[in-house]
Amino acid sequence: MKQLQEKIMQDGKVLSDEVLKVDTFLNHQIDPELMKAIGEEFAERFKDSGVTKVLTIESSGIAPAMMTGLMLAVPVIFARKRKSLTMTDNLLTASVHSYTKNETNEISVSKDFLEKGDKVLLIDDFLANGQVVLGLQDIIEQAEADLVGVGIVIEKGFQPGGTTIREKSIRVESLAIIESLQNGQVKFKEEGTA
Ligand code: 5GP
Repeated sequence: MKQLQEKIMQDGKVLSDEVLKVDTFLNHQIDPELMKAIGEEFAERFKDSGVTKVLTIESSGIAPAMMTGLMLAVPVIFARKRKSLTMTDNLLTASVHSYTKNETNEISVSKDFLEKGDKVLLIDDFLANGQVVLGLQDIIEQAEADLVGVGIVIEKGFQPGGTTIREKSIRVESLAIIESLQNGQVKFKEEGTA
């Protein structure tokens, strides 16, 4: 997605060979116009998948997921990283390991919002090692719902998540795929070579 690639080139900060900071439009401050375009793009790509729910994880997945849900006219659910006071039981949970933070978190979704037979589209801001997607897939399976695909805003193509998920025959649509962050430079994989 050209608009997104241009924004990453303009505003993204390469923190290391592995980590990209995009807090001017996605991870802290949010660019609503860009999120709208992202929602439209995901909705277009998954329009024939019969999506009934969009699922993401707090907090940075919420903005692109909400715009996608708006365009597809379906509800948006976000998995919680910490249990809230009002979420006491009736939970579907999974463990997610973060390699960047070197910690494992239990994520949870209320059984009230994912139903058997739901066709779920997963949306997240980044795909790195694929742990978030696998955790959310686990929750979808527990609910006896179907995962119809994964929409990622920025995939780090040099990390193994994309391959891991695609090898499970899960459809992954990434709006920008980064081939490398070496020498402080963002290098994109050309479209169609994913
Ligand atoms: P994964 O589960 O695929 O290993 O990691 C995905 C999660 O890690 C995303 O939800 C995102 O929050 C975070 N993440 C991974 N790599 C980056 C990165 O380079 N930049 C930012 N801002 N977040 C990242």
